[in-house]
Amino acid sequence: MKKKINLQLMSITALTIIVTLILVSAVFYELFKKQVFEDLRIYAYVLADEQEESIIQPSKEVCGDLRITLLDAEGKVYYDSNFPVNEMENHLQRPEVQDAFQYGEGSIVRKSDTLDRNNYYYAVLLKNGCVLRVAREADNVFSFLRMTFPTLMPVVAFLLLACVALSTISTKSLLRPIEEIARDIDTKEEIHSYEELDPLIKTIRQQHEDIVKNAQMRQEFTANVSHELKTPLTSIYGYSELIENGMASGEDQVRFAGEIHKNAQRLLTLINDIIELSELDSHVQRRAFEKVDLYDLAGACVEMLQVQAEKHDVGLTLEGQSCFIMANRQLIEEVLYNLCDNAIRYNNPGGKVAVRIEKKETKILLVVEDNGIGISEEHQNRIFERFYRVDKSRSKSTGGTGLGLAIVKHIASEHGAEISLESEIGKGTKITVSFSACTDV
Ligand code: ADP
Repeated sequence: MKKKINLQLMSITALTIIVTLILVSAVFYELFKKQVFEDLRIYAYVLADEQEESIIQPSKEVCGDLRITLLDAEGKVYYDSNFPVNEMENHLQRPEVQDAFQYGEGSIVRKSDTLDRNNYYYAVLLKNGCVLRVAREADNVFSFLRMTFPTLMPVVAFLLLACVALSTISTKSLLRPIEEIARDIDTKEEIHSYEELDPLIKTIRQQHEDIVKNAQMRQEFTANVSHELKTPLTSIYGYSELIENGMASGEDQVRFAGEIHKNAQRLLTLINDIIELSELDSHVQRRAFEKVDLYDLAGACVEMLQVQAEKHDVGLTLEGQSCFIMANRQLIEEVLYNLCDNAIRYNNPGGKVAVRIEKKETKILLVVEDNGIGISEEHQNRIFERFYRVDKSRSKSTGGTGLGLAIVKHIASEHGAEISLESEIGKGTKITVSFSACTDV
């Protein structure tokens, strides 16, 4: 990257120098050309005045580096200071001569036989109808470039060196913070960078932290899953081995088969929850959202769990009114089931569970409140973590996997809903999920 920046800066500098050089040479050449024509014009008019009086035909020595040509009205050369007249062709078609006949004067630049030199011609129409042409050889634009190059070379070299030095320093300081963060992304120390780079550094750090946290969570999750699966599998293995070896009498056989059945059931529930969570994690298929009546769904759930509530001697009721939200029906059913199931399982005989659907400003609230065992403050923050249980044996004995609330949390966040928890040990628990109301209702 440094090399690339240096190279780019140097190319830009070199290009700028070359363009400047060409432009400066072109401007100087234009000025020079103007001056040469001005000189030739003055010579031509001085000579033209003299020509009015008498036909002076100055010799080559008198003309110096000037070439003087006299043409009659037909363009025939009848005097030239540099060449024998009889060898010269008719000049009527020469552009400067044409202009002189038409407008009184004309000028042109033609390439000389000598490299880097041009011939400059200036022609004027005399009063007697003849044309006087004055010409001289002088530098052209290439000779200007050739002349300026040696003078400018040291400047160019100095500028290029300065550019290399400057670009090295600036790329170094530009890349220093990036190199620092690449070297030690975990460091909590402040990296001295510039304002524009701060958000990028912040984002990179945040993402790195998230990745590390995610990796840790996955590792923990895998370890927990293995552990959770191991327990029922070990039971199944043990009981089936006893039956296989004929070590179970008739009555025991039924009991062992019951244990195997219970543990297999547990394995199934666990695997279902794990699949559910990993599907939520992977975001593979974006689930279809539709307008659903939360009160309707809660009604169906309450009805479904009535038998279980009676089994635990817990009263389960529903209050509220029709309230619509944009949601995935299946996921919301899962939220309702998990919350109500917990409220029944972590309750006392004779206890109560109230499910309420309320509208509060732009929000639709799902409240599941029980007067069960409650959760002490130190556990309240953690019960939404995967496999976190307050009372492990109670959770297991009632068919819990420790994943229910983790699934609820995931689904809520997928719906942009917020969860709040109020609980007091011995008094009960109230969990509120707040959804955005469906706007077209
Ligand atoms: P589980 O399958 O063990 O019920 P959850 O993720 O659903 O797992 O809940 C995590 C833990 O939170 C439970 O083990 C339980 O200790 C506690 N908990 C959840 N809901 C309630 C509730 N309504 N009352 C008391 N404790 C609860």
